[in-house]
Amino acid sequence: MAEEGFDVVVVGSCMTDLVSQAPRLPKAGETIHGHKFFIGFGGKGANQCVQAARLGARTTMVCKVGKDFFGDNYIQNFKNNGVSTEFVGQTDKAATGAASIIVNDAGENAIVIVAGANMMLGDKELQGAGPAMGGAKVLICQLEISPETSLQALRMAQERQVKTIFNPAPAIADLDPDFYSRSDVFCCNESEAELLTGVAVSSVEDAGRVGAELLRRGCGSVIVTLGPQGCVVLSSQDPAPRHVATAPVTALDTTGAGDSFIGALAFYMARYPTMPLEEMASRANRVAAVSVQGVGTQTSYPYRKDLPQELF
Ligand code: ADP
Repeated sequence: MAEEGFDVVVVGSCMTDLVSQAPRLPKAGETIHGHKFFIGFGGKGANQCVQAARLGARTTMVCKVGKDFFGDNYIQNFKNNGVSTEFVGQTDKAATGAASIIVNDAGENAIVIVAGANMMLGDKELQGAGPAMGGAKVLICQLEISPETSLQALRMAQERQVKTIFNPAPAIADLDPDFYSRSDVFCCNESEAELLTGVAVSSVEDAGRVGAELLRRGCGSVIVTLGPQGCVVLSSQDPAPRHVATAPVTALDTTGAGDSFIGALAFYMARYPTMPLEEMASRANRVAAVSVQGVGTQTSYPYRKDLPQELF
């Protein structure tokens, strides 16, 4: 562990994306020729951790990968990004999480996700990381690992006075109500907000309404991200919804934009704890806007050196 403790601890998922581009999606039983294949590093937890690290946060990832080629490769990817791998476990009981993705020429896709080793992250691993969690500033969780593990991580963080960010993705309709009270910042996108509240979100005003409902459920603050429209921020001290607009850019590939936003938010919360949340959200908007202008997920995430000095 770094002497001063970690800025950001992520308890979450790693997924290897296996992407094939083909003229069309194959039918059952059919084999077709594709024209391009690539392997990408994904998983919401790992994406958020890598973005925070690229901005300069001292980060550690608490996760589980398989004892296989993809697991070894993922560990190397963390090292290449300066993420501590002290709490990255390897198991021979399941394969590294994988997403097999086929994209057709119209940009439509068919995806099979096998969470594999991600689902084997549990109490034992959390207890092992407990001391490091205690010295950290911010903890982030999502829902690509077992929800019980995420909730336990949030509880452990709050008991240790560590700020929590919870990203309810992929969203589940019957979310344990404890997730709300364990979230210092509850950060979701429009479709997740819609699934959780049953209220359609198609405008800034709608986002303010669903944000207010999520806040009533017990979160410290709520952020609803809105793609090119930036985000809406509400907090229990200041419950009026504030629209934090951003300069819209022409997106090349929006995959992982929300994870870039959350990784950046965690960086600002850890490094500038007295900065108003709206200002942090405004800066996270600008980091995420860079990510949508590049292809891929982690490959499009900016490093501190690529960003204007005024963001730091
Ligand atoms: P998700 O990737 O979870 O669907 P969003 O689409 O809401 O999340 O995008 C997350 C953030 O990325 C937005 O809040 C915004 O800051 C940024 N963003 C996304 N698309 C654009 C865009 N076209 N122009 C500028 N910023 C964007």
